[in-house]
Amino acid sequence: MSSHYNPYVSQLRLPALLLLSLLLTAAAVSDRARALHNSSLVFDAHIHSIEREFYHGGDIGQRKADGHFDLPRARDGGLGAMFFSFYVTEDYYPGRFETKQALRLIDACITQIQANSGVIEVAHNATEVERIHAAHKIAAVLDIEGSFDLDGDVLVMRDFYRLGLRSMQLSAHNWQSNYADSCCAGTFKWNGLNDRGRAWIREANRLGMVINVSHASDDAISQAIDTSTDPVIATHHGLRQVNDIPRNMPDWLLKKLAAKGGVIGFQIGNEFHNRKVFDWVTAHAGKPFWDTKAIHDRAPMSIFEIDQIAARGFPMVGTSAPDDLKLTVDDWVAVVDRAIQMVGEDHVALGTDFDGGPTPPKDMHDVSDLPMITDAMLRRGYSEDRIRKFLGANLLRVFRQITEKH
Ligand SMILES: [Zn+2]
Repeated sequence: MSSHYNPYVSQLRLPALLLLSLLLTAAAVSDRARALHNSSLVFDAHIHSIEREFYHGGDIGQRKADGHFDLPRARDGGLGAMFFSFYVTEDYYPGRFETKQALRLIDACITQIQANSGVIEVAHNATEVERIHAAHKIAAVLDIEGSFDLDGDVLVMRDFYRLGLRSMQLSAHNWQSNYADSCCAGTFKWNGLNDRGRAWIREANRLGMVINVSHASDDAISQAIDTSTDPVIATHHGLRQVNDIPRNMPDWLLKKLAAKGGVIGFQIGNEFHNRKVFDWVTAHAGKPFWDTKAIHDRAPMSIFEIDQIAARGFPMVGTSAPDDLKLTVDDWVAVVDRAIQMVGEDHVALGTDFDGGPTPPKDMHDVSDLPMITDAMLRRGYSEDRIRKFLGANLLRVFRQITEKH
């Protein structure tokens, strides 16, 4: 509310500063791109929205100088809807505090959204997304990152649904679960899904819950597509043909996901799409993925002590990889283009993972820079219709199929 007026800046200097900032903004993004962006539904499939406030206090309605996401910057970036993702970190698993932590985070999400009800509102289906967007507010779809919390238990899933959750991740992030293999837990236990995993998918279909396959193993994703009567969504992902890591999707699997009507959301980070930065991170920052062994080896502790440890990870803002190694926004769009060449323009979406650890493309800093993507897509020669599909129409279409079939 207050950031546009600083009493310590004199009234005479303010217009000059405003003019300067407008000129800088205009230099980065064309007028045509900004107009197209602002008249489109921009629907991001994955933003880590709440951990920062949960662990460090504050309000999502406050503009911050660091991190990637807050509501004022989301407005600046033309964001219309988002998967409002909350992440129960692996720290809570060994003590079996994961379901309790999920409930605490759902409370934090709803409390913060209610405190900012003039700007953001929870959406339970696609029609609500459209209604909230038409009212010039941001629609928030509650989404859980990692579902160790659910433990493959459909009764708990139904409780979370009643609390407003509409999207869940298959598999337990970077950890082994009791119903579906993760891409990146080190070993595969179920060769994909077991019977509990298949029951989990059938119940998600019945309720109208998004099955988010990011972080699952290839076999788990493939079997989820076979089992589900709805399309599935890879909310924040990359392509293995660009960077050959297990977290990214191989071509055969992307084709299968698209054939079932699903979408892949493109994560914004260099680590997913740029081998040079991935290797730099590996060399300079140690292990690129969660250190599960260190968590396993910790002495038992209370949930409040675990909070103190987990808090150090947020906000997750990516690495300090040198600029000359980073992708440009045009390079990033070229990765999306590879998927479009393979499966067409109806199966790609935005899934930035802001505040979940990505290192955005060069010159992109946070959610306020989303119009740079629209600009790059226009430079690439994409039609406005194709760009609108990528920005949000594809994700909305699939979200409607899942949430409004009854
Ligand atoms: Zn993730």
